[in-house]
Amino acid sequence: MSEEDVVSPEQQAEDSTVRKELEKRLSNGLQTEIEPRAYSHEEILELVARLQDLSEADYDSMMVIAGFTIKPYGEEDDEQACETCMYYKVHRKFCELPELMLPVEPEWSCRLWRI
Ligand code: SF4
Repeated sequence: MSEEDVVSPEQQAEDSTVRKELEKRLSNGLQTEIEPRAYSHEEILELVARLQDLSEADYDSMMVIAGFTIKPYGEEDDEQACETCMYYKVHRKFCELPELMLPVEPEWSCRLWRI
């Protein structure tokens, strides 16, 4: 674990609270923009620009625009899940995409997934 992965107990507790809140919203049927996926440079830039317009605590809009799902997206042999995304910090269970910066579960997914 690198030094930058170490978070304080207070931060862990806060992450956990936010993660549970996000999970509740997803479980309660928040409709997110799962498709089209953002594969091209232009599609990614468009999504990022929309996310940049949001306030830091506008979790619903973040999850809607990013197309969050509570399960991995795609087929079993071609799955997109946070745990395999380049933005995922394993030990903190955290998404470090600058426009998101959210605590997430490893099996969640979004359309900004990158390997
Ligand atoms: S960018 Fe990656 S780590 Fe962040 S929510 Fe999307 S899939 Fe998960």
